[in-house]
Amino acid sequence: MALVTVTRFEEFAHVRVDSPPAIVLTAEARAQLMAALDEVERSDAAGLLMMAARGGFLVDPDASAFETATVPPDLRELVARLEGLGKLTFAVCEGPTFGAALELAMACDLRVAGPAATFGLPEVTVGRLAPAGGVQRLVRLIGPERALPIVALGKLLSAHEARQAGLVDAVPEPEDLLSTALTLARAALSANARPERASRREAKLRETGEGPDLFAAFRDRNAKPLRGRVAAELNIQAVEAATSCAFGEARAVEARLLAAALESEQAPALRYAFLSRSQAQRIPDVPEDTRDIAVGRVGVVGAGTMGGGIAMACANAGLDVVLVDQAAAALDRGLATIRRNYAQTAARGGLGEAEVASHLDRIVGAVGLAALTDVDLVIEAAFERMDVKQDIFRELDRICRPGAVLGTNTSGLDINAIAGVTRRPEAVIGLHFASPAHVTRGVEVIRGDRTSREVVATGMRFAKRLGKLPVLVGVTPGFVANRTMYPYRRAAIALVAEGATPWEVDQAVYDFGFPMGPFAMHDLAGLDVGWNPDDASGDILRDRLCRAGRFGQKSMAGYYDYDEGRTPTPFDVVAQIVERFQQESGRAVRKISADEMVERLMFPIANEGARLLEEGKALRASDIDLIWRFGYGWPDYRGGPMYFADQKGLGHVIRSLEASAAPPDDEVSLLLRSAASTGEPLHCWGWRD
Ligand code: NAD
Repeated sequence: MALVTVTRFEEFAHVRVDSPPAIVLTAEARAQLMAALDEVERSDAAGLLMMAARGGFLVDPDASAFETATVPPDLRELVARLEGLGKLTFAVCEGPTFGAALELAMACDLRVAGPAATFGLPEVTVGRLAPAGGVQRLVRLIGPERALPIVALGKLLSAHEARQAGLVDAVPEPEDLLSTALTLARAALSANARPERASRREAKLRETGEGPDLFAAFRDRNAKPLRGRVAAELNIQAVEAATSCAFGEARAVEARLLAAALESEQAPALRYAFLSRSQAQRIPDVPEDTRDIAVGRVGVVGAGTMGGGIAMACANAGLDVVLVDQAAAALDRGLATIRRNYAQTAARGGLGEAEVASHLDRIVGAVGLAALTDVDLVIEAAFERMDVKQDIFRELDRICRPGAVLGTNTSGLDINAIAGVTRRPEAVIGLHFASPAHVTRGVEVIRGDRTSREVVATGMRFAKRLGKLPVLVGVTPGFVANRTMYPYRRAAIALVAEGATPWEVDQAVYDFGFPMGPFAMHDLAGLDVGWNPDDASGDILRDRLCRAGRFGQKSMAGYYDYDEGRTPTPFDVVAQIVERFQQESGRAVRKISADEMVERLMFPIANEGARLLEEGKALRASDIDLIWRFGYGWPDYRGGPMYFADQKGLGHVIRSLEASAAPPDDEVSLLLRSAASTGEPLHCWGWRD
């Protein structure tokens, strides 16, 4: 099959690459491209215009960072051939031009981009460096300062930013792409001014705005996103090499850096994390062509913390929202919070005034459910009580138009019991957002026993439309996110009972790569959520703190004291509460290493995850990892709890669980035992290629 075609376009050769369904540089496509370059060299064409057959530029953006070809010719050989071609070469980039595609584009003499084109070297996001000298060429084309965020943080450039930076030579309207390329190519040829190849350019190398401290300043400024990321640091070093060595020498340094990146445990974990995102969108009995229900107008019930955030997420995605509460005062409070949140985003430069105004215009407030008669989808976010939710759903069933989807944001109540009070249980679904709902990306879509496929497809697509990463789960108390959170919290308390302080536990988890540890996280969520002052039999530590009026960040005091900037500091009173708790637990306290703490915290999550798989409440192990990455900040370069269990060895995981288990809650899952005995990787459970 012809994946690469060469035609004549005026005096130029016109090379188009296509390899359906995605444009991937397969071995066959690479061989054909190489042959096409040879053919053009031999021909009388004045030069070569290269483009993809359908949008983008040569390589599918999703495959762009995975260039691992071993069958020759590989990407390096193609880049070298293109750069060494004795004719003028021109890259015509219509859309996303990432990774291997950008490497090829940068090997051309000139580049022209459509206004929708975007540029990037996203290899860092899968733990690598661009393999064919892409970092070196990029630095030489746009300078180190502009290149750093692209190669170390995976930032993208729009077509206009790329033009400004000097990466592309023109950004005409889409219909003028080829004619502009032709004009620029002719101008270059007639002036006999073939542009200097990227690898030979030097002027931009000296554009280090912040002087020699550029790299230290970049590391400082981005300490948070760079923390713990091996490939990000190696990419920075590749940029440093570009500014301090000649091209050939810098390429040799870069090859060593790439080898180090590939040797790191992070590269396979990041690759898995990346691929698991598309896996989560595959639902065996709800194929992609399943019909869904059109959603233009959304109703949100409850203008509290979650309802307000969900309303903002919908408005941000261009949907009209009716936000209702039971009382005018609660509604006014909710709307005022939304206005304040938008004002803060605008003040930080995240949104323009006009955008804020148009988002706010989309949210209309009302008192009472009667305002929801004509919405296409409702998301209920009222109090977490079954009687409250059932009352609301009875009423929604009565007033909402036939065909409307009835969703609930419950944190863990039985969706079937909620659906059971309606005459349309097939329309009821859980849409469990994490807080703050307009920011976090993870959403659990909960399928009730009678939820229709159409409604499942609608829930998944709706969440994606909000820019979220939905994961389909089944009905079980706390669903997947909260059910796997309970053993994690229990393990944290057990560690404290054995001698660790909450801040030591939090530090170990922070150093592992989480944004915060379990105690700081509990402070953020609110210690009083689910606390019953009449029942102190559960979490004793939490009970004592709540009785002392320490409810977490909301009261500026929980496990930590908080200042105005929400910086946590350990507090003596808490240390005393902890000490008393340790004495009462009757165990000999001991020093626990950070490694042991991490394993004791994370293995119970994997165990609960395996039980969820056994019960059919999650479709695949990688979905659980996804929920932990996008819901709780598990570092993507460590895959997720199921992946981590495999890394540590399932036999070791089982021994650790058995040594610290408090049955029946922490009994070892049968699925975990069977995976350990067969040697099947746990994280691949349910994965389909
Ligand atoms: P909240 O107390 O901040 O807000 C609830 C709002 O619902 C209040 O404004 C209340 O007046 C309103 N309300 C109550 N009954 C109503 C009714 N019959 N009709 C209309 N409005 C009514 O609560 P929240 O934290 O936003 O939680 C809402 C839901 O989201 C709960 O089910 C909770 O479990 C779930 N949830 C919360 C979080 C979180 O972190 N807060 C995270 C995920 C899910």
